Amino acid sequence: MKKTNFSNWFNDLLVDAQIMDVRYPIKGLYVWFPFGFKLRKLTYDVLRSLLDRDHEEAYFPLLIPENELLKESEHIKGFEEEVFWVTRGGFGELDIPLALRPTSEAAIYPIFSIWIRSHADLPLKIYQLVNAFRYETKHTRPLIRLREITSFAEAHTAHTSWEDAELQTAAAVELYKEFYDRLGIPYIVSRRPTWDKFPGADYTLAFDTLMPDGKSLQIGTIHHLGTNFAKTFDVTYEDRDGNQQFVNQTCYGISERCIAAVISVHGDDKGLILPPEISPVQVAIVPIYSKQADSEAILKACSEIQQELSHYRVVIDTDDIRPGAKFYKWEKQGVPIRLEIGPRDLSSGSVTLVRRDTREKESVKRTEMQGRLAQAMSNMLENIAERARAFQVSHMVDIEMPEQAKGKKGIFRISWCGSESCGRKIQELSDADVLGETDPIEGRCPVCSAPTTIRALLARPY
Ligand code: ZN
Repeated sequence: MKKTNFSNWFNDLLVDAQIMDVRYPIKGLYVWFPFGFKLRKLTYDVLRSLLDRDHEEAYFPLLIPENELLKESEHIKGFEEEVFWVTRGGFGELDIPLALRPTSEAAIYPIFSIWIRSHADLPLKIYQLVNAFRYETKHTRPLIRLREITSFAEAHTAHTSWEDAELQTAAAVELYKEFYDRLGIPYIVSRRPTWDKFPGADYTLAFDTLMPDGKSLQIGTIHHLGTNFAKTFDVTYEDRDGNQQFVNQTCYGISERCIAAVISVHGDDKGLILPPEISPVQVAIVPIYSKQADSEAILKACSEIQQELSHYRVVIDTDDIRPGAKFYKWEKQGVPIRLEIGPRDLSSGSVTLVRRDTREKESVKRTEMQGRLAQAMSNMLENIAERARAFQVSHMVDIEMPEQAKGKKGIFRISWCGSESCGRKIQELSDADVLGETDPIEGRCPVCSAPTTIRALLARPY
């Protein structure tokens, strides 16, 4: 059950709904089933279409030479425990060990330093959809905590000024909001505390969503890198007066955690519930007949309907199993609309339309089917998004003392003076992390008693 044992529910569903095969013999590496991979493709098509408005897609190599990776000292300190190294080629030791990218700054920025010559080359905005490797020592989990992140959409931008880069971080926030709105996933955007920012960044903004078990899942991050990496990798441009200046940079990324969020936030005890836009199958037509005599006419009606609905992703389920087993399968895979056609539907010129999100069943005249179906599809995203939002809102709790969050589910708001030492103390006492800040209210810091308007958001992250 999703409510009582989320972790089991999630693991079972990944297999039962054919998202991930977890039997690969390396810890933290998993296999995408074809159905899961289609879901991934459709989800990233949405993200790509948003990025393609003003970014260009590129590709940088997986291997990063050790000397490049070690250049930015703060950056490498944040990642060194997680790097996989390639040290041999065939039988010989390599001259320079090569890292499998844990993230791509050290692969991309040395090339940016060659590409960028003058202010006319800026802003530069690229992205790539790649895998990344991290030697996770914590408990690994499909789609959430991985040693191979298979679907890292990372964008990297360069600008003439710090302010321009700041505008880009704001634009990235809007882009990610649009992405998650299209998936019906609620989010909280906040600025990570200084002790939890991306190693080497000036600051980090993050998207978090609340999972059914009351923990938060970070589903996107946006970093203002200032000139920190530009100085390390010598990324400069000639300004209008002929002077060499360092570029200001940003980077931001989303991983397959976006799919973990879709599965977890929307799914129920029957299986997945997918937003129609990203569902690999949008309409499943199930013919129902007991007598062979009916079968021909019913199957003919099914293919006519498939033709009529050719602008959707439609399958006719002609497998030789009982209709009940077919309903079960399509519900498991979160298919938004099921159309059933039996002898009675056929004689009355109707179909039976079943919505996955509400599981409502209605008889619809064939002549009205297109309209009803389109309406149901568009209501569905709204409905599941609203349901998810309501869950998140009902789990936002105001507390006065950090201990009140201990052992409780949800996201907590608590006054905080803003200092690192009090922030860390609040974390310790609440057994939760400071995600960032939320709307200000007058109060007192529970640790040092200083009056403050700052309020921290606390949650237990994955
Ligand atoms: Zn304080």
